[in-house]
Amino acid sequence: MTRVLLLGGTQEARALAAELTAAGFEVLVSLAGRASAAAYPGETRTGGFGGEQALADFLRRGRFALLVDATHPFAATISPAAARAADAAGLPYLRLERPPWHPEAGDIEVPTLAAAAAALEPGSRVFLTVGSASLAPFLGRRDVAFVVRTVEAPDLGGRADVEVLRARGPFALADERALWDAHPFDTLVTKNAGGAATEAKLLVARERGTAIVFVARPGGQPPADAADVAGLMALVRRAL
Ligand code: NAP
Repeated sequence: MTRVLLLGGTQEARALAAELTAAGFEVLVSLAGRASAAAYPGETRTGGFGGEQALADFLRRGRFALLVDATHPFAATISPAAARAADAAGLPYLRLERPPWHPEAGDIEVPTLAAAAAALEPGSRVFLTVGSASLAPFLGRRDVAFVVRTVEAPDLGGRADVEVLRARGPFALADERALWDAHPFDTLVTKNAGGAATEAKLLVARERGTAIVFVARPGGQPPADAADVAGLMALVRRAL
């Protein structure tokens, strides 16, 4: 059987694991540690490899024929390292990156989480959707009221006044409207993650006149080979 190492941590990675397995590939899904392995069919491994060289060794030792990178657009260390490791190990590397959202006139786009935290108006009521591992720059803003939505339990750095909503997308438009009914947000902060699963918050923010602060995608990522699961699967069939 042809072995594929799939770097995961996204909804697309879960779908790809199922599709690759159904197509007859032997898939090992690799997770950094935060995402639940239970969501994936088949074999998983968890934890960093120990850097680029170690990943290249892992690929050689495991006799993988292909490295598929379906990590998050903001996972800015693993993707460039994975592209170089695949090259060093002499196997193809294919990267799925979903297209970004397009900020509109009036939206604010900033380059970093720290800049997003600095851009918030004192006294504002902020819906913060940057992920549990990215909250630290915001928690120092004690003059801002936060409602935080995360998949995993977040570390709030001792702040007791932050409301936490634990949920995993996709999020329906009606549910996002109900959330805004319950919380009169004046600002939404989001990474420019892209994708339909979490796009409804942008539509509701625009309906309700809520300011949107986008954190731009990090630079230095390898170019995307495909924008969605179907596109990536077509490339896999061609590559192997
Ligand atoms: P990162 O900064 O690019 O990676 C940090 C380190 O974590 C890497 O150097 C690597 O360790 C390890 N790592 C990352 N992804 C891995 C994987 N799939 N399998 C094995 N090791 C991995 O990544 P991050 O931003 O911390 O994200 C970690 C994971 O969460 C990613 O897999 C990503 O898909 C997922 N995720 C991230 C975000 C986000 O906003 N950043 C959002 C949703 C999901 P070694 O150097 O030791 O190999």
